[in-house]
Amino acid sequence: MTDTLDAPVAAPVYTVPQERKIVTAIPGPKSEALHRRRLAVVPPGVSSALPVYIAKANGAILVDVDGNQFIDLGAGIGVTTIGHTEAAVVAAAAAQLQDVTHTLFTITPYEEYVRVAELLAENTPGDFVKRTVLVNSGAEAVENAVKIARKHTHRVGVAVLEHAYHGRTNLTMAMNFKAAPYSTGFGPFAGDVYRAPNSYPYHDGLTGPEAAARTIAYLEKTVGAEDLACLVAEPIQGEGGFVVPAEGYLPALQEWCTENGIVFIADEIQSGMARTGAMFASEHFGLVPDVVLSAKGIAGGLPLAGVTGRAEIMDSAQPGGLGGTFGGNPVAAAAAVAVFEQIEKSNLLEEAARIERTLTTGLRALQQKYDVIGEVRGIGAMIAIELVEPGTGETTKAPNAAAVNSIVAYAAQQGVLVLTAGTYGNVLRFLPSLATSDALLEDALSVIDEALARFTA
Ligand SMILES: *Cc1c(COP(=O)(O)O)cnc(C)c1O
Repeated sequence: MTDTLDAPVAAPVYTVPQERKIVTAIPGPKSEALHRRRLAVVPPGVSSALPVYIAKANGAILVDVDGNQFIDLGAGIGVTTIGHTEAAVVAAAAAQLQDVTHTLFTITPYEEYVRVAELLAENTPGDFVKRTVLVNSGAEAVENAVKIARKHTHRVGVAVLEHAYHGRTNLTMAMNFKAAPYSTGFGPFAGDVYRAPNSYPYHDGLTGPEAAARTIAYLEKTVGAEDLACLVAEPIQGEGGFVVPAEGYLPALQEWCTENGIVFIADEIQSGMARTGAMFASEHFGLVPDVVLSAKGIAGGLPLAGVTGRAEIMDSAQPGGLGGTFGGNPVAAAAAVAVFEQIEKSNLLEEAARIERTLTTGLRALQQKYDVIGEVRGIGAMIAIELVEPGTGETTKAPNAAAVNSIVAYAAQQGVLVLTAGTYGNVLRFLPSLATSDALLEDALSVIDEALARFTA
């Protein structure tokens, strides 16, 4: 008799064939018609990287209105981490829609919010008592974390790192490294934000402890630890270009924060929720932050974000001081519960590790072939290449945004959606959903290979 417990995990059933297919010019005629309508009613401040209009998405594939199929290596910037229209998430959200769509948690609460808070308490680093507040977006999570840290410490200073990205609200614009396009002309900005050098091993060549000493010395001289409420850091920088800090950098910052009563806030909005093969990227560095922010991948495509932190910090905000009309919406919360369940059931941490192996192997092989690839880096399904100007004999590390733009444009024409990143726009980032098969990754890599061959020809 077969033991059903030993049965393999059922392969996911996809409603869209998992393959790329280009049947029109890109963009196709229906996308072009929609784009004309859009330009009449949507301001150009909201831009689109690739103006093909999507009619359906499933697994790792986007289908546009003209019937073209794209391998999605961006996952809506790391949002559909468990795959587009993942069946369990769709079922949970659909069921919740029928039961309760909205009450407002701060008027009459519901279980799904509480369940997400329990799951975040279990799954974020650190086994101390934690509390979670749910909000709608990553930027809102950052705003709330800073509010809470200020209330807790009775201090105002906010430390951030070079190449950071934290959002598009007024406070978070002040926290971003890059002005254009995020904050150009949108001031005045929030004050008391201090930007310190980060750890960027490819460029600074520093060890973790050396880079941490530089960050700390900078903050002590320019602000003073006693005036800092919090330090906000992405364990792996997202928009900054998947910058992985040197070993020991983050724990050294955490130690300094703890000694000085500064709240360490890990912005895991892009790096969290199984993306890197751990539930949160902090785990790779032995980092136990005081507060962890999650958003993007948490609800399988529905808008939800969380601020999870030590109870004694989180409890410092007065009743009524936190919340908002849509924060922790029941449908988004039900979807998030399904995401947590699927990560475990489908072994998605292992899938992230598989994607890392396939992508880094393929990209390192391309690096041997093309000297515009300065570095291959990243963890899990968060892998990037930094493109540089080839020097004479060795690479110069000068940013090569033209190479990135050329690859992205060629890949789109071939049915591969890949995103850019980096302060200088010279990083190509691979942020596929964990449902992306090796066959699709290999296929996409062959397109990147062709793109590089054309660019360097
Ligand atoms: C996307 C992102 C944000 C902002 O999230 P929104 O939901 O777009 O407001 C903040 N921090 C990081 C690291 C991000 O990647």
